[in-house]
Amino acid sequence: MCGIVGYIGHRDAYPIVLKGLQRLEYRGYDSAGIALYDGANLNVCKTKGKVLDLKNKMEAENITEGNIGIGHTRWATHGVPNDVNSHPHYSNSGDIVIIHNGIIENYASLKQELTSRGYTFESDTDTEVLVNLIEDVKKKENVKLGKAVQIALNQTIGAYAIAVFDRNKPDEIIVARLGSPLAIGVGEDEFFIASDASPFIEFTKSAIYLEDGEMAIVRLGREVRVRKIQDDTMVVPYVQELQMNLEQIEKGGYEHFMLKEIYEQPSAIVDTYRGRMLVDKGIVRMAGMDDNIEKFTNAKRILIVACGTSWHAGLVAEYIFEDFARVPVEVEYASEFRYRNPIIDENDVVIAISQSGETADTMAAIKLAKSKGAFVFGVCNVVGSSISRETHAGAYTHAGPEIGVASTKAFTTQITVLSLMALKLAKAKGNMSHADFHYHLQELDLIPKKIKKALESNEHIKVVAKKYMNAANFLYLGRGFNFPVALEGALKLKEISYIHAEGYPAAEMKHGPIALIDENMPVVVIATKKGHYEKVVSNIQEIKSRDARIIGIVTEGDKDVRSMADYVIEVPDTIEAFTPLLTTIPLQLLSYHVAVMLGKNVDQPRNLAKSVTVE
Ligand code: GLU
Repeated sequence: MCGIVGYIGHRDAYPIVLKGLQRLEYRGYDSAGIALYDGANLNVCKTKGKVLDLKNKMEAENITEGNIGIGHTRWATHGVPNDVNSHPHYSNSGDIVIIHNGIIENYASLKQELTSRGYTFESDTDTEVLVNLIEDVKKKENVKLGKAVQIALNQTIGAYAIAVFDRNKPDEIIVARLGSPLAIGVGEDEFFIASDASPFIEFTKSAIYLEDGEMAIVRLGREVRVRKIQDDTMVVPYVQELQMNLEQIEKGGYEHFMLKEIYEQPSAIVDTYRGRMLVDKGIVRMAGMDDNIEKFTNAKRILIVACGTSWHAGLVAEYIFEDFARVPVEVEYASEFRYRNPIIDENDVVIAISQSGETADTMAAIKLAKSKGAFVFGVCNVVGSSISRETHAGAYTHAGPEIGVASTKAFTTQITVLSLMALKLAKAKGNMSHADFHYHLQELDLIPKKIKKALESNEHIKVVAKKYMNAANFLYLGRGFNFPVALEGALKLKEISYIHAEGYPAAEMKHGPIALIDENMPVVVIATKKGHYEKVVSNIQEIKSRDARIIGIVTEGDKDVRSMADYVIEVPDTIEAFTPLLTTIPLQLLSYHVAVMLGKNVDQPRNLAKSVTVE
């Protein structure tokens, strides 16, 4: 995920593109770059770091002239964040520049093909491959830029929002989208291009939002021409009047980043497994694991180290790895692990999980594990982060930037990556038949749709939140795969609403916590059909007899829990191992609404920070 901006018209492009990038920094901020065309020269300036670093560099190098510009603030997916990998990328001739948000999945084979025809590449990005493919098509087929972009895109697999400029045709910018957003601002003899409308809201309120699979030629002195990438049919663009203000646009119309990120989970999970999970072929491809598969198959044990929400994802993974791959798993708080004298050696595989990839305790745990000879695998969201560099290998979650301090999409995308890893290991160890493996992939592929369905309970969850927002304590109960979800649900509520909450394995209630139950205690029970359902129903009965208020998270169509609970919230059915990806959704929404109703600062709760870089 990244932010892209473009301008073509009569104004100075530099301040517009620069300010636009600053507004889009919430989409990615590991590096940035701008290309400007001043009528004679096509200048590119780019740098690792924030847009402010780019501003300093451009002004120091005096690259600020031109009425045409395209800019990018990056969230690296291919190649670490550095100056060279930053966008825009030039084609080999230096004539064409591109900015890209997304992932070209088949970039490796395209790169090989282009290399065999003499193309060279400076960066590690998939994007540089695309711009050279466009150049190659343009030359080979002797077509105009727009046509070349179209033909090239039809050879790619993946997701993109792109803007392409050719110095030989300096009155137009070509844009296209598939899976990543792109808006065109239509002004008087000028056009703006951006990932959302925030960069151009003060210049024009007229915008065209490209649909997936569409491209547009944005040419001065002409109406925007939109066509379908695949079959070249013309589309009449719908020019809409923007009603939103700047802040609303940055948050995609949501009131808070946390809510936006909760709703992003279906697409974030698709981004996580895109290019890795080939359902039709029945394959999971993960370079970090493929290159080290023997480390995994020979491991006597897997040790997971993490903190906070990532630790909860690790607990879910424990159940999944043990169930699928039949390998013993231990999950450790990184902060505890590092200060003991842990028994660990070269027969262990350590998986370190961290959204930011900067968590200080997890980093220290990794160093300790490495010093004892273990193979360490990182699961991070931020490409090029310290942990991704320190580990022997890893897999990114590709969830896009998470701004809300309370993790939501990081949790579900971590579970997705860890599930793919467990499936891969199960297959490699011969613990899962091909048919079963394939069935699991199909089920995982359905999860984004099912999350969308789970999100439809939002209004109902608001009612539940209103009912219990003034409770002093909450209990969260779950069993098996959903015990860690109970912990995560309680953590979410604590973090943003400051209400005391505890998560327990449901059967542990009678060993102590049941003493807390009275008519003022809301108890959230995860009771999906799969996984010890009858036992959980008995546990509900036990607490119901002590007058507790029950909120059941149940499978669609459930009757038993409904008859006992004060409220039920339904989620779609799936195989047991993947239920955490669904049951966690209503818990996120519940804590969100309680916190909003209590007037708390949801995106920046007190005392917390997004990336915990202190020990
Ligand atoms: N895949 C591209 C890269 O890693 C674009 C990533 C983005 O969307 O920022 O450079």
